[in-house]
Amino acid sequence: MFNALVLQQEEQKTVAAVAQISESDLPQGEVLVQVDYSSLNYKDGLAVTGTGKIIREFPMVPGIDFVGTVVSSDDLRYQAGQQVVLTGWGVGENHWGGMAQKARVKADWLVPLNDSLTPLQSMQIGTAGLTASLCVMALQQANVQPEDGEILVTGASGGVGSVAVSLLSQLGYQVVAVTGRAENEAWLKQLGASRIVMRDEMLEKSRALDKQLWAGAVDTVGGPILAKVLSQINYDGAVAACGLANSFDLPTTVMPFILRAVKLIGVDSVYCPFDKRQAAWQLLAQQLPQDYYQQSCQTVALQQVPEQASNIIAGKVKGRIVVDLN
Ligand code: NDP
Repeated sequence: MFNALVLQQEEQKTVAAVAQISESDLPQGEVLVQVDYSSLNYKDGLAVTGTGKIIREFPMVPGIDFVGTVVSSDDLRYQAGQQVVLTGWGVGENHWGGMAQKARVKADWLVPLNDSLTPLQSMQIGTAGLTASLCVMALQQANVQPEDGEILVTGASGGVGSVAVSLLSQLGYQVVAVTGRAENEAWLKQLGASRIVMRDEMLEKSRALDKQLWAGAVDTVGGPILAKVLSQINYDGAVAACGLANSFDLPTTVMPFILRAVKLIGVDSVYCPFDKRQAAWQLLAQQLPQDYYQQSCQTVALQQVPEQASNIIAGKVKGRIVVDLN
C-alpha cells in the first residue's frame, strides 16, 4: 500500500484526502513509476478545489506532472531504474496522476529525465516551466530577437510567468513583468525583470491599436489583458499565449493582426510532441539559472496540497510548488 491524494465527489463538491491505495488500484499503462515529486500547477489547483470541472470521473488522483524511477516497463524504450518525467496527456485529469507514490502510465507520455537536471529540479520547473520554455521557443521561432525591444510577461509571479521572466532574461532579452502584487517587485527584478507594470494598468480599457511598446510577450492570463498586450505589440512582433488565469475570453479586434502583422501564437504543453518537449527541457536545463530554483520554489507534503491548491486559484502562490512523495 502507498499514499495518494484522492479526489472524491460528495454532494457536488470535490473533496481531497490522503488515502492508502495499492498497485492494483492504478489504471492500465505500460510503465509503473515510483514517483519522487509532483508539482502544483494552476490546473491542479482547479482540479483539487473542484473549481474548473477539470475532472469528470471520480475517484481521481490529481497531479498533471511527476518525476520518478521506473519500477517495471512493458515498453522497450524504458527500463527499471531509469528516471523519467511526465507532463500533460490528461494525466491527473482523466488518468490517475502524480500525487501518489506510484503511477502507471503509457510509455508514449514519458520523457527521460534530462541529464543536466536533478529529479527535484525537473519538478521545480514542472508543467508550468516547460510551458514557459515552449513560449520562449515560440517567440524565438517568430524571430523576436533581444535587440528588437522589450518583452512583456503577464502573470509574472506565477509558475509559467516567473520561469519565463528568468529564462528570457538569461537569453539576453529585456523583460518587463506584469504583476498584481507590488510586494513581488524586488523578487521579479532578481529573476531578471528590468521593470514592473502593475496589472491594473493592463486592465484599463484598451483601444484597437495602442502605442507600440513591446517586441513580444508571453501571456499567461488571457482576457482583457491579452487584448491590451496585442494592441501594444510592435509591428511584426509576436505574443505566445498559454493561459487563462484572468479569463478564457479575448475581447480584441483584428487590427493588430492586419495593420501591424502581429502574430498570436498558441502554446500547448499537454499534447506537445516528444521532440519539441525534449528541446524545451534542454533549453531549461541549459539556461534556467540556479537562482531560480533557490529563490522561487518551495516544497510541500501531500497533506498540504488542498490548502496550496486554494492558494494558487486565489493568485497567492509565488513561483513554483513541488509536492514531495518520498
Ligand atoms: P499560477 O497561478 O502559478 O500563475 C498565474 C499568475 O497569474 C498568478 O501568479 C498571478 O500573477 C496572475 N493572476 C492570477 N489571477 C489573475 C487575474 N485574475 N488576473 C490577472 N492575473 C492574474 O499559474 P501557472 O503559472 O501554473 O499557470 C498560468 C496559466 O497558464 C494558467 O491559466 C494555466 O492554466 C496556464 N497553463 C497552460 C498550459 C498550456 O499547456 N497551455 C500549461 C501550464 C499552464 P501576479 O500576481 O504576478 O499578477
